[in-house]
Amino acid sequence: MVLDTLGDALKNVFKKLTGSVHISEKLLDEIIKEIQRALLSSDVNVQFVFRLTKTIKERGLNEQPPTGVTPKEHIIKIVYEELVTLFGKEKKGITITKEKNKPFIIMLVGLFGAGKTTTIGKLAKYYAQRGNKVAVVGLDVHRPAAHLQLQQIAEKLSIDSYVDGKQKDPLKLWKANEKTLQSYDVVLVDTAGRDALSKDLVKEISSVSKTIQPQETLLVLSADIGQAAEKQATMFHESCNVTGVIISKLDGTAKGGGSLSACAVTGAPIVFIGVGERPEDIEVFNPEGFVGRLLGLGDLETLLEKARGLVNEEDAEDLKKRMLKGDFNLLDLYEQMSTMKKMGPLNKIAEMIPGMGGMNIPKEMLEGQQDKMDSWKFILDSCTQQELEEPELIGRQRLERIAEGSGQSITDIRGLLKQYKQSKKIMKMMKGENPEKLMKKFSGAGQKIKFK
Ligand code: GDP
Repeated sequence: MVLDTLGDALKNVFKKLTGSVHISEKLLDEIIKEIQRALLSSDVNVQFVFRLTKTIKERGLNEQPPTGVTPKEHIIKIVYEELVTLFGKEKKGITITKEKNKPFIIMLVGLFGAGKTTTIGKLAKYYAQRGNKVAVVGLDVHRPAAHLQLQQIAEKLSIDSYVDGKQKDPLKLWKANEKTLQSYDVVLVDTAGRDALSKDLVKEISSVSKTIQPQETLLVLSADIGQAAEKQATMFHESCNVTGVIISKLDGTAKGGGSLSACAVTGAPIVFIGVGERPEDIEVFNPEGFVGRLLGLGDLETLLEKARGLVNEEDAEDLKKRMLKGDFNLLDLYEQMSTMKKMGPLNKIAEMIPGMGGMNIPKEMLEGQQDKMDSWKFILDSCTQQELEEPELIGRQRLERIAEGSGQSITDIRGLLKQYKQSKKIMKMMKGENPEKLMKKFSGAGQKIKFK
């Protein structure tokens, strides 16, 4: 899961809040200590941490919760807002602009092992799924196997690749393919890396950049370098005209908070994050959604982004409608879960579903969910149309009948109904809103989000 440790620690902060009616200064101090501990252990810069917690305390003590909002909810909102600011505030991503006879060129730069080549594959898949004709070009002519690695990644994704193991001049390699590349919408360019940013590397990146004139130059940084990311991002930003940063390997390190917060202040915005080794493990970086997930509030936008790539636009719209409708039934739930199943392991997706992230669902249970889908299908087949539309009707007698008809246990059926009720409650709360506005809505309407 993305930033497991930080997320768990921050959710624990809210556990402290759940049990208390009154927010005293003492409790606020305790919460702040927990937040500090959580952020420091994920390698966020000490100064950032103290600045952030000072603001949280000041706001917590001085701001009056709006009418209908409990002090507890107000504190959650403050923590949410301040963390969003720490991680960069705005959602960035990249907008592909299409011009006749000119592809949108994205050049990736970074040190050895940062995840450049893997990220090229991820971006290729990402843009191809969104209807673009994509090509990858290997201009890392120094690392002997670089062209083969890129070619293999592209082949697996059925993406065209332009590499040449014998050509040692990146500019010649580009020139040789320039004309052919005009027929593509998006061209992703892999460049050489080094162990450190050296004059040689800057020179090479600059001359490649001058020749290929990319619309975007993205720096790939590995999350495991923690707050050291700031130095690297600043150096690359100053010498290579970096237009955005991709933080890779956020799944495999406890230092993720460090790299994200450090880069956010460099002036080079974080545009994507890498959360695994598979081609689909990439997400547009959206600080609001990201913090929402850390705190267990969910990230519907990212989920829909994923859905858009994996199911067609119509299905995605449909999924969105169902998720936001609020008055959905058991069949909707099943369809929703089936669509999500296509998006990858449920435990990853669960973090993004508003409400599920904060429910402390044991990982093993979530993994088991994959199998549950099959059992649910049997259960739904044994329900009457009326039961599917109004699951509230299902009492003891009906439970026994469904159990017998479907060959599934009563516990399984109860589990399905429980999940339905939880989802319905959350969907209702979000009705008509986009997730960015969730916090505003729940403060305005005085809705309660329970953190276990
Ligand atoms: P390059 O030298 O910058 O081209 O780096 P590579 O693309 O070869 O990646 C180096 C290693 O990092 C490979 O083993 C990748 O599988 C791994 N890697 C890249 N991105 C991610 C990610 O987001 N998560 C994880 N867990 N591993 C990644």
